[in-house]
Amino acid sequence: MVKGTNSEQALVGETSSHLRRRQQVTSTVQDEAENVGGDVGARSGTLFKLDLLDCPVCCHALTVPIFQCDNGHIACSSCCTELRYRCRSCTFPIGNYRCRRMEKVVKSIIIPCPNAKHGCTETFSYGKELVHEKKCSFTLCYCPAPNCNYSGLYKDLYIHYKSNHMDIENQFVCGRPLCTWWRISEKVFVLQESADGPLVVLQRFNKPGGWYVTVNCIAPCAPGVGEFSYELSYGTPMGGYKHIMTFKSSEMNRIHKVSFQTPEKDFMLIPHYFQYPRNSLKMTICIKKDMKEEGED
Ligand SMILES: [Zn+2]
Ligand SMILES: [Zn+2]
Ligand SMILES: [Zn+2]
Ligand SMILES: [Zn+2]
Repeated sequence: MVKGTNSEQALVGETSSHLRRRQQVTSTVQDEAENVGGDVGARSGTLFKLDLLDCPVCCHALTVPIFQCDNGHIACSSCCTELRYRCRSCTFPIGNYRCRRMEKVVKSIIIPCPNAKHGCTETFSYGKELVHEKKCSFTLCYCPAPNCNYSGLYKDLYIHYKSNHMDIENQFVCGRPLCTWWRISEKVFVLQESADGPLVVLQRFNKPGGWYVTVNCIAPCAPGVGEFSYELSYGTPMGGYKHIMTFKSSEMNRIHKVSFQTPEKDFMLIPHYFQYPRNSLKMTICIKKDMKEEGED
C-alpha cells in the first residue's frame, strides 16, 4: 500500500554540531486518509525539501508541539520560549496556537536509515534516524592500513584486513597479554583479534608534554561489536624495565576511521623523561571483552 520503497528514497543528510542542513532529499509522506471520503489505505508521495520539516529558527527537526503566529510563521516550543513568545519573522505573539496540521505532517514522515544503501532496513520518524545512525551496525568502517582506501561493513573490513595486511604477530586473543614492539617510525599500530575479529588501533601523538597514546577499536557503536576493556603498559628499558607505566580503561572507544587529530581525552601520557626511543617501543596490551552487558537479563 505504501508505494515509496527504500529504493526510491535517497537520503543525503549531514549533522553538524548544532545545525542540520538537508537538501535534495526525498522521503515518503503518508497521508493517513483521515478525511471523510478519503482513501482507506495510506497514500504516499515524495517530499523533495526535507528541511521544510526543520524548525526555521533553530534548524532542528520539528517535534510536537509546533506553534504558529498570527501570520502563519512556525517555531518549535523551545524556540518560542527562547524568543519570549515573539515571532522572529514578524514579532507577533507565538506560542498560543499550535500548528496541528504541521504536527500531523511531521508525525507521518518515515525516513530510512542513512545506511539504507549499505543494507540497513530500519525506518524512523523524522529526526530519529540520526540518533539511530550513530548505533547502526551498517555504518561504513575504514581500513586503518596506510595508503589503503578500503571501506566496508565492519565484518567485511575485518576479513579484508586479515587477508591483505595482517601480520601474525599482531593478533591478540582476548584476556591474554600481548607483548608488542612498536616501531618508532610508525604512528599507527594495528592489532587484530584472531579469527577475523575486530581491529584495535594504537596511535602515538608526539606532543610537547610527551607522547599521547590512544587505543581505539574500529567498529560501529552497535551492541555486541568491539566492546572491549584494555590495559596498556609501557616499560622503559632504562635500568632494565624496572619502571612500568600502565593505563587501564574499562571501555575502549569505538571509531569508524583513524583520525590524526590530537585527542583531548582517553589517552596514556608518556612523559619525555620516560621515553627511551631506540627503534621500537615495548608495549604490553591486554584486551578483554567488556562483560558489563552480561549481568543484565
Ligand atoms: Zn526551534
Ligand atoms: Zn510571524
Ligand atoms: Zn541503520
Ligand atoms: Zn586495507
